[in-house]
Amino acid sequence: MNLHEQQALPGLQALGLATAAEHLESVSQQAAAGNWSYRRFLGHLLEGERTARHHKTVTLNLQFARFPAIKRLAQFDCAQQPSLDPRLVEELATGRYLAEARNVVFLGPPGVGKTHLAIALGVSCAEQGHRVYFTSVTELARRLGKAMAENRLHREMNNYTRPKLLIIDEAGYLKLEPAHASLLFQVIAQRYQTGGSIILTSNKPFDQWAEVFAGDPVMASAVLDRLLHKATVITLKGDSYRMLERKKAGGAPPLARVC
Ligand code: ADP
Ligand code: MG
Repeated sequence: MNLHEQQALPGLQALGLATAAEHLESVSQQAAAGNWSYRRFLGHLLEGERTARHHKTVTLNLQFARFPAIKRLAQFDCAQQPSLDPRLVEELATGRYLAEARNVVFLGPPGVGKTHLAIALGVSCAEQGHRVYFTSVTELARRLGKAMAENRLHREMNNYTRPKLLIIDEAGYLKLEPAHASLLFQVIAQRYQTGGSIILTSNKPFDQWAEVFAGDPVMASAVLDRLLHKATVITLKGDSYRMLERKKAGGAPPLARVC
């Protein structure tokens, strides 16, 4: 082995290309046996490095997101939800809304798939290499309220303002107290300013949002202004899927379709 050949492995390691370093020997042998061009050899080695890095990024993104469960669009049975246009779901799955800093709001009664769709879009965002954070309104209010009391609001706020996508689940189930309503407003206002998308789910139509925001119609309209300035609003209808499943209990599980 000449000097340059000897330097290949420590060189890759020093540059932090761990997977390429790990595969150097086997890929070199493959290249020699197959009479590969230099470009092909290099391309092959780098492709392995890139794939491994992407895999690691996705794993970390999924951990960071704190999804309550992993749900996928492919598991969503569109036949059970005729109020949903499958083309719209396909469009959202491309992630274009993230580049356009568009928000997505799912409205509808309990059990119609709002959280499922929000998580599924979040998972696909994580798989596209972006940071996502999932929270319910109650959890957000609790954590930010605690952080404020402990004088570390700024740091805690970063969890909600920095990720490419923030998913806020279950707005409207509980009436927020004024301090918590104001914290939620701050999150939404900051994300609006910095152009970060929000996916929000709610069982309450917008005209009842004053109730959610501590009975304050001014704050509710300031939130809605920002949230809906650039947004896709999807209203889901129908019976609860949970009930449907229960009725079918004992029968075959419903067929999942790719929307
Ligand atoms: P919501 O958030 O609207 O209350 P969820 O998304 O939590 O409803 O849905 C309740 C359960 O039913 C979840 O386990 C979800 O995966 C499932 N579910 C709802 N709608 C569908 C659907 N159309 N296809 C497959 N699973 C569904
Ligand atoms: Mg839900």
